[in-house]
Amino acid sequence: MTRKEADLSHAKFDVVVVGGGFSGALLAVQLSRRAPDLSVAVVDKGPLPGRGLAYGTKYSCHLLNVPASNMSALPEEPHHFLRWAKVNYGTSVQPTTFLPRPAYGRYIGSLLEDAMAHGSGRNLHWIKGEASSVTRDQLIEIRLTDGSVRVAQSLVLAVGNFPPANLKIPGLSAGSSRYVRSPWSATALHEIPKNGAVLLIGSGLTSVDLAVALKSEGFAGHIHILSRRGLMPLTQRPTGQWPHFWDEPGPQTIRKLLRLVREQVRMASESGGDWREVIDSLRPVTQNIWQSLSLKERKRFLRHVRSYWEVHRHRIAPEIGETIANLVHQGQAIIYAGRVTDYREFPGHAEVALQDRKTGDVRTLNVDRVINCTGPETDCRRIEDPLIKNLLAHGLARPDPLFLGLDVDPNGALIDSSGKPSPALYVIGPARKGSLWETIAVPELRAQASDLAAHLACTLEPGIQPVPEDEAIGAEANPG
Ligand SMILES: Cc1cc2nc3c(=O)[nH]c(=O)nc-3n(C[C@H](O)[C@H](O)[C@H](O)COP(=O)(O)OP(=O)(O)OC[C@H]3O[C@@H](n4cnc5c(N)ncnc54)[C@H](O)[C@@H]3O)c2cc1C
Repeated sequence: MTRKEADLSHAKFDVVVVGGGFSGALLAVQLSRRAPDLSVAVVDKGPLPGRGLAYGTKYSCHLLNVPASNMSALPEEPHHFLRWAKVNYGTSVQPTTFLPRPAYGRYIGSLLEDAMAHGSGRNLHWIKGEASSVTRDQLIEIRLTDGSVRVAQSLVLAVGNFPPANLKIPGLSAGSSRYVRSPWSATALHEIPKNGAVLLIGSGLTSVDLAVALKSEGFAGHIHILSRRGLMPLTQRPTGQWPHFWDEPGPQTIRKLLRLVREQVRMASESGGDWREVIDSLRPVTQNIWQSLSLKERKRFLRHVRSYWEVHRHRIAPEIGETIANLVHQGQAIIYAGRVTDYREFPGHAEVALQDRKTGDVRTLNVDRVINCTGPETDCRRIEDPLIKNLLAHGLARPDPLFLGLDVDPNGALIDSSGKPSPALYVIGPARKGSLWETIAVPELRAQASDLAAHLACTLEPGIQPVPEDEAIGAEANPG
């Protein structure tokens, strides 16, 4: 390493954001607008800025599950995405259009690139790399897997979702050759025979993504989809607006809340409306409802209501709904409610035993691939990520009481192992689920990015000049 490289590798910033997917990119954009004097670095291990897991997909058949009118990344400019899409995607885009996710990834990437290219963005830096550990003294040191270190006044974790937990199925291990643990891995669908068979374990949005991707690749075999209840995400439909009906203090138990929601759904359908209006009317207050519930009631929700809530809340674009319905109708996709009781590998296939939820009957499937689509692991004690492990090991972070993510205060500051909120370490995105529940989609994340940027702008004194500008360009290359 030359002296210049060594100096650069210890560059200091006011804020380092680990993760440059949706949340991290938007936080950097908001910081460049609100506090242009703060020096900010975004560290990301992925290939392109702003894409992250959701918008980095290569499949244009993967559509947004929210219409263009509600996908602006900037809360202060609600039609920003729609305007961008009309110019950069096609003039035919309507507020109700469900656009491909790769196009949305370009939109987020372009926002960050614009922020870096223009005046206030001279303090914004993109660093390609993986952060693996953090130490905190007066400043924070962030070590990357390439051995380099960045130093910051504040660190924000915007690391998104983690791969699913390993499945506990007799005969199945992480090394099983026909088993794919991460449905998002680039090779998950590689080399599946065209007329073969695939088992997707889990029947949520990830399974939908994989089924649609398989179809787009010309796969003509069987797609078996299994989950405990066999519930698939429901489909979006244009609806009217239902008036808000939850006020604080609302019902404090899940039982009473369910009764209230069912009553509203009945009223909506009697007046010619749709249950979707009722569910959507809860969106602006979902975080308040969650926070009004005791830990016991939150657990009750997770045990008894969660899977029903997910399919009603996380709906799919009409076109995607139609694709899935056709696959089912034609017998290509088969949905099961039950569990896998056994897995064995033979030359040429895997044999999987499924037990039906209602009858208890067991059937055997021969498949070429089994893909774990059970959803992201949220219990950070089990997440096999060096950075998360390191933060927990050093007591800089702790899990939230429901193991849905990391414990944070209302500003998103990490709460350490002794229960103290950090003045310098923050979290944005899905890892705040324990305290907010609704914290994984664009409407909430764009607000979080904006709020955290405002908080950091108030609390940090700009002071750290990372490196002279001419030196910065080669080392911390702007995203391409
Ligand atoms: C498949 C899918 C589809 C979705 N579709 C929609 C939709 O249509 N509409 C909607 O509103 N919401 C949607 N969402 C929800 C939401 O928009 C995304 O989850 C959102 O992108 C989350 O943003 P994030 O920044 O928290 O995570 P991500 O965008 O995944 O970004 C995390 C980033 O952190 C990086 N990273 C992680 N660890 C490290 C490390 N140690 N060092 C360096 N970099 C690291 C990763 O490389 C990644 O780029 C979808 C989510 C998924 C998973």
